[in-house]
Amino acid sequence: MAVADAGLAGLLLGVGLFGLVLGSFLNVVIARVPAGTSIVHPGSACPGCSAPLVWYDNIPLLSFVALRGRCRACGMRISWRYPLVEAITAAVLVAAYAAFGLSAEFLIACVLLPALVAMTAIDLQHQMIPDAITLPGIPVGLLINVATARTSWVDSVIGILVGGGLFLVIILASRGGMGGGDLKLGAMLGAFLGWRALLVALFIAIVLGGVIGAVLLATGRRGRKDPIPFGPFLAVGGAMALFWGEQVFGWWMGGFSV
Ligand SMILES: [Zn+2]
Repeated sequence: MAVADAGLAGLLLGVGLFGLVLGSFLNVVIARVPAGTSIVHPGSACPGCSAPLVWYDNIPLLSFVALRGRCRACGMRISWRYPLVEAITAAVLVAAYAAFGLSAEFLIACVLLPALVAMTAIDLQHQMIPDAITLPGIPVGLLINVATARTSWVDSVIGILVGGGLFLVIILASRGGMGGGDLKLGAMLGAFLGWRALLVALFIAIVLGGVIGAVLLATGRRGRKDPIPFGPFLAVGGAMALFWGEQVFGWWMGGFSV
């Protein structure tokens, strides 16, 4: 292996470990933000028996495997969500570093992708997108773009207005099909991605939501009246648009001008 390859492999490993630790923190966010409790205090404990977790029961992935998915004290089954969130957070950050290197894009990825992972888990579990993530996300996305000169502030502000505005129209037209959480998430994605990649994110979310919604209806796993949260589709669309949004937008424009 060449020295440069070994260096890159080491960096990717470092980013992966950072992602695992961050994912472990996101699990705390996912459990506590919907309940409105502090994410710092008290320390982690088993939700079944309240036994506090010792440090070696709190190591990302490894502890879940070592404990075979059960609490050491009471034997209660630990949710698959914990190792899954850790693994996904590590994987998306490694992918982002491999794609972007040390850059403004990677900085955006380090903030946006973990936020989307947490929001997806919370929306799937509670059918709500927490303001505690989306509202600060809007100015943070704008600030990172301005501070790193990744895109002009105008792109980002138009993104906020398009993302929020579109959902406002949908909410007013559908009377309850979408919630205010989707509106704020749309605005947050616009702030981070800029309006061009935002349009790609919305397109992916709508296609994905339509296909998966149809499959859930057809297989009877969801009835016509059951709400299907849209947040996870927006999160996947937003993540994909961070990687390929500008490129896809370029294809659209190229196609229109031929
Ligand atoms: Zn327990």
